[in-house]
Amino acid sequence: MAEKAGSSSSTSNPLTLIIEDEVEEELLYGAGSGWVQALTSCDHLASLSSDLAHIPPPQTPCSQCQNPKENWVCLCCKDVFCSRFVNKHMLQHYEQSTHCLALSYSDLSVWCFSCDAYLDAQVIQELRPVHEVAYILKFGEAPPFR
Ligand SMILES: [Zn+2]
Ligand SMILES: [Zn+2]
Ligand SMILES: [Zn+2]
Repeated sequence: MAEKAGSSSSTSNPLTLIIEDEVEEELLYGAGSGWVQALTSCDHLASLSSDLAHIPPPQTPCSQCQNPKENWVCLCCKDVFCSRFVNKHMLQHYEQSTHCLALSYSDLSVWCFSCDAYLDAQVIQELRPVHEVAYILKFGEAPPFR
């Protein structure tokens, strides 16, 4: 398999990914603010688990290597895997299962492997509840909605 965009650099120029179609709206959001742009739609939401009100707690270790924290939870089957900076088990899970939606317990961002992009969990209706659940698990209070 080809190396996925230099495994150690977290910023592999996300702009190149989105400078294609439906981009103009997205640019309005993130332009100039210097943070990674998140998509406000995704074609893969049908694969979300039907019960996202119950997800494993943030301190759940990776189901493969027991890495203790900063893991990802698969939003399709709710298994927990480590990041591409640890042993890449989330990525491996995606490659083996095609479950493409994952939520990071380190910053609560949602990543779609198929879109190869972050998703805006506060804008995308289907993701809002699980983002809120994860936030409450992590911080013990409801997220401040913007
Ligand atoms: Zn997607
Ligand atoms: Zn792992
Ligand atoms: Zn899964």
